[in-house]
Amino acid sequence: MRPIDRRTVLTGIGGAAVGAALTVALRPGQPEPAAPAKVAPPAPVAPGAGPMSGLPLAKDAAALQPDLVRLRRALHRQPEVGLSLPRSQEAVVKALDGLPLEVRTGNAVSSVVGVLRGGAPAPARRSVLLRGDMDALPLAEKNGLDYRSQTADTMHACGHDLHTSMLVGAARLLSAHREKLAGDVVFMFQPGEEGFDGAGKMIAEGVLDAAGQRPVAAYALHVGSTMPLGSFVTRRGPMLSASDTLKVTVHGKGGHGAVPYQANDPIPVASEMVTALQAMVTRQFSVFDPVICTVGLFQAGTKSNVIPDQAHFEATVRTYSTAARDRFIEQVTRLLRGIADSRGMTVDAVFSEDHYDVTVNNAGEAEFLADTVAQLHGAERFAWLPDPLTPSEDFSKVLAQVPGAMAMLGACPPGRDPATAPANHSPLAEFDDAVMADGAAVLAELALRRLVS
Ligand SMILES: [Zn+2]
Ligand SMILES: [Zn+2]
Repeated sequence: MRPIDRRTVLTGIGGAAVGAALTVALRPGQPEPAAPAKVAPPAPVAPGAGPMSGLPLAKDAAALQPDLVRLRRALHRQPEVGLSLPRSQEAVVKALDGLPLEVRTGNAVSSVVGVLRGGAPAPARRSVLLRGDMDALPLAEKNGLDYRSQTADTMHACGHDLHTSMLVGAARLLSAHREKLAGDVVFMFQPGEEGFDGAGKMIAEGVLDAAGQRPVAAYALHVGSTMPLGSFVTRRGPMLSASDTLKVTVHGKGGHGAVPYQANDPIPVASEMVTALQAMVTRQFSVFDPVICTVGLFQAGTKSNVIPDQAHFEATVRTYSTAARDRFIEQVTRLLRGIADSRGMTVDAVFSEDHYDVTVNNAGEAEFLADTVAQLHGAERFAWLPDPLTPSEDFSKVLAQVPGAMAMLGACPPGRDPATAPANHSPLAEFDDAVMADGAAVLAELALRRLVS
């Protein structure tokens, strides 16, 4: 997932107050807890305990925190990029060992799917899906963490190591509460979220049918290094943008830079296209269904006095509705061809196939998530996002088929100002793993409650 928009205002959530409410205060700089000889699962809840079962889950989750920190930091030391994550996959399989789960690994990708069969009676068999992504990013970590990446030019800069650990935590919590679980839970550990469509590939391998029937709901959390520690935010409807990459090549006629009238220079024409794209976005698309088009790559030529044959540029395009995306694709093609035609050139404009759809939260599921956070951790820990965020997510593929919701979880370390802290994807990004017990409790509680609602 791309960096969080810093302009997002999280009113009513104070970093200090939220930090104080956290159950465990392990900081990134602190030494890790020593590994126990054997990891004990949390104690089962006494029958009838807790009206919402929230408090016991939160307490059990707090007891898991040292284990989750160890797992997260081990993952952080050995980040892997893309769809093949053998070490991360192995760590997850090992962490799930001993739990009453049906565990399967992917064929084409390094995924792990766990299915927990609940023991409580239910009128019909139902399931809930929980997702955690496992992949890292191709950049060199530049912070001073004592558990920083040991792999060159690879870093868990988007916090997916926390997601993986929180999902393991949820699996442990729900395993301990299995007899209260009125259905099945699918744990989806996915590779390749960062632009590799890992979710789409897991769907193709059947993750949505892993429990034997389609889940009634799906949930995911994503940490943010620029959000107040321990704060949860989500939104009804569009939560994250759709992401497309537009690749444009303008074909002109090269020649000597001193005699441009004997050539057909593609550079000014490609430049004209870049500015025309901006005009198209602001003049032809509603501000209430926005489009972002950023040209982040422009390549042409080899020398100042040589006119090249071609100019090439690429843009990232973010939209928040299928209608806007479809219209952008149609209009951009017409616009670029029109400009090229008028200059006696040709143009190739293609959208790469690795696009991500808009991540759309089901309104009812988003409200259910908000209520679950409030029940577990207090209403002051939750806020509604006024606007969608600009990053994109392939959890959109799951939410296109299963109603559900994704929420952001603030993980800005104490001592850093969320307004200025390095964002997700920065080589300096830091995520405070003190939030993991609370995140694991929310995931587990969502499944537990949703199967009886
Ligand atoms: Zn990311
Ligand atoms: Zn991410």
